[in-house]
Amino acid sequence: MSEVVFNNKMESWEENLRDLPQRLKAINEKPPLRHGKPYAIVSDISEQFYCEMKVEMELRYGRAETEMKRRGEEIHEEILRMEKAELEDFINGIKLSRLYPASLLLAAEVEGIPIIGKPDCVAFSRGCPAFVSELKTFGGGTFRLHNDHVVQAMIYALLLEEMGFDCSRTTLHIVGARRELDQNIQKEIRMPLIYLQYILHLKFTDHLRTTQRAVYISKEMLAILDGILSKQSDLKRVAELMSSNALSIFLVPYSREKALNDLRWAKAYWTNERKEPKPTQKPGKCAVCEFADRCPASSSSSSFSSKP
Ligand code: SF4
Repeated sequence: MSEVVFNNKMESWEENLRDLPQRLKAINEKPPLRHGKPYAIVSDISEQFYCEMKVEMELRYGRAETEMKRRGEEIHEEILRMEKAELEDFINGIKLSRLYPASLLLAAEVEGIPIIGKPDCVAFSRGCPAFVSELKTFGGGTFRLHNDHVVQAMIYALLLEEMGFDCSRTTLHIVGARRELDQNIQKEIRMPLIYLQYILHLKFTDHLRTTQRAVYISKEMLAILDGILSKQSDLKRVAELMSSNALSIFLVPYSREKALNDLRWAKAYWTNERKEPKPTQKPGKCAVCEFADRCPASSSSSSFSSKP
């Protein structure tokens, strides 16, 4: 467990990307983590912050397919569709472009455990990650920022940093898309949504770095940007969807310290230092959980009454 799989800091991000296939092979030769897993996946780590017991249930029994998940995957597929690129073109795109949105596998060893994950989108600008964007779908009501969303984006940025990227100005964007969003609209907004986030990144990076607080992009904030948005009908369209709550964006500052703290807590589960997975304390989560009938800690089961 203590051996270093990735000599993260010794290499540039270009070398890290070129060497990724070899590094991934090397992971399999290392002592396994909990449930025999060779690495921890970022989405599992973030789910620990939703309900660690749920991660345990998924690893024991497999993930259940639900209609909500299927719809979420369809929206991801439509809004985040990207072209495949050759590695060297990809590296040049990252290095030279003013805005280069990409989806790439990230891998690094942090705090002694190998971690891999694929963010929905990393938008690079002249060799640096400008923002990491995670798309979440939501149903009725208002889209809310949850800690597990933040943890996920935060750890992606940490992996980017460990792979040699300069994340000193990276912002984290949590984008909520209403599940009922029409498929044609999803296609139409694919690139404008990235451009709008780039504008928001330029506008708010310094503010986020100073306040270290998340910002919800409200109608009032969009109104401030109206001078820029009104010149481009596709950006205006995204802004209208945001004003009608069909789309929502939270900007979150990246903090290496927070990412490492969260990771240290999560790590104890993967190394079996914390043998008993932590169940959520929120009955509402159990009420919609596909494992409610088999989970020993479910609020639907009698054992819940013993919880604090
Ligand atoms: S039933 Fe509740 S405690 Fe159990 S896995 Fe689901 S959300 Fe977690």
